[in-house]
Amino acid sequence: MTKLQYPDVSLYIDGAWSAAVEGATLPVLNPADGSEIGRVAHASRADLDRALAAAERGFRIWRKTSGFDRAATLRRAADLMRERAEAIAPLVTMEQGKPLKEAATEASAAAGIIDWFAEEARRGYGRVIPARSEGVTQLSLREPVGPVAAFTPWNFPINQAVRKIAAALAAGCSIILKGPEETPASCAALVRAFHDAGVPPGVLNLVFGTPSEISSYLIPSPVIRKVTFTGSTPVGKQLAALAGQHMKRITMELGGHAPVLVFDDADIPAAARLLAIAKFRNAGQVCIAPTRFLVQQDVYEAFTQALLEVTRAIRVGDGLAPDTTMGPLANGRRLEAMQSLVRDAVGQGAQLRLGGERVGGRGNFFAPTILSDVPLAAQAMNLEPFGPLVTLTPFKHIDAALEEANRLPFGLASYVFTGSIRNATRAAAEIESGMVTINHLGLALPEVPFGGVKDSGYGSEGGTEAMEAYYNVKFVTQAAA
Ligand code: NAD
Repeated sequence: MTKLQYPDVSLYIDGAWSAAVEGATLPVLNPADGSEIGRVAHASRADLDRALAAAERGFRIWRKTSGFDRAATLRRAADLMRERAEAIAPLVTMEQGKPLKEAATEASAAAGIIDWFAEEARRGYGRVIPARSEGVTQLSLREPVGPVAAFTPWNFPINQAVRKIAAALAAGCSIILKGPEETPASCAALVRAFHDAGVPPGVLNLVFGTPSEISSYLIPSPVIRKVTFTGSTPVGKQLAALAGQHMKRITMELGGHAPVLVFDDADIPAAARLLAIAKFRNAGQVCIAPTRFLVQQDVYEAFTQALLEVTRAIRVGDGLAPDTTMGPLANGRRLEAMQSLVRDAVGQGAQLRLGGERVGGRGNFFAPTILSDVPLAAQAMNLEPFGPLVTLTPFKHIDAALEEANRLPFGLASYVFTGSIRNATRAAAEIESGMVTINHLGLALPEVPFGGVKDSGYGSEGGTEAMEAYYNVKFVTQAAA
């Protein structure tokens, strides 16, 4: 393997890359071996003040830039991401762990997301509302909400950030992004594409530091008009409460614990193959990953065997190695969480059908893990695993499966495999989740809504709904003079 370069990462404020004012930095570790591969600048309040002032100025410029011109700039950024995807991919793998192929897909998918929002930039339509009196014109107009404070996590360092940046910029907002400190270089490469595409200074700003210090400073600032966060439910609740105190608009994309309903009339081999892809992608560190597999009694063992077979074929290793199909977990916290979930489930009587342990003596590698007959009281049935762990539970009747699907406070994604329209229709109607995918993996395209209900948050990060989050509605009524 050739030695790859990993860059130190600076802050990007007011159109320029710079060290933090106080010169502080944080280490960036490679999850495949624990080694320090670089440093990332750690912002202090002085840096945040610069970012706030820049975002305020940037907003004044960008809101007056036409939707056509904003779209043209975004398209250039999309082209740059497309051109650079192969070069950016190793950065994602080195800092986050996922296999190179998944990393390249994430980088090139960013181009598609930017392109889609670029098109929306030209479609900020309002409405003409018929008036009650002659000579009166009533307009409902869309205006950008203002400077945005965005917080994105480490599991998809490009994808989580690009959805927020592209939608905000398409709508005419400026944005301060607090990127993921553990995976900063690929997020910085994304920001660089927008810079090189000609986004004016101040419109997009990128900071890193101590997350709680940054959010508690930015959210109350009068400059910030909108808050968007992707991460865990407990942190989301804290930030939503703070935003509420300061009457800021919010989008919250939080945790899930996605139920999977596999009925006895499903194509079992196809269901097992697709679900293994969705489950072990990014080592399961995906908010929409299928997690609680509920399988109808008659096909329970057949499905279990089919899933075991496809899962055994997964090759765990360094994401830079060409034959790796699942990399390490992104940080030591996830490794500990997996060990603790397995220990607890087995201790409560679950059967360990595959994996369940760390792989190798260094790095955060954990084997793809399948547990069957897991008691409902086990932590794995209640806490989001956010790792390569499947729980299998049999059900007899659809009523029981729906009850289990809706038992938890989460409601992000759900999966259904069935040959019956009756089962599909009922599951789609009755599962309490923001997204349901039936007989295929159809979530997370740029043009479709992406978001949760209940403790999984609110608002959307895809589709036209994502644009709404960055617009205010202004009503103008005018009588002929
Ligand atoms: P965590 O709860 O400490 O952090 C989650 C994310 O929130 C991180 O990106 C972190 O930087 C950020 N964060 C934490 N405190 C913050 C604050 N006060 N202000 C602003 N941002 C803050 O946990 P973690 O160990 O990083 O991740 C574990 C859990 O987070 C997972 O189990 C999963 O539930 C959730 N998570 C969800 C997603 C997602 O895509 N929805 C992504 C990453 C993590």
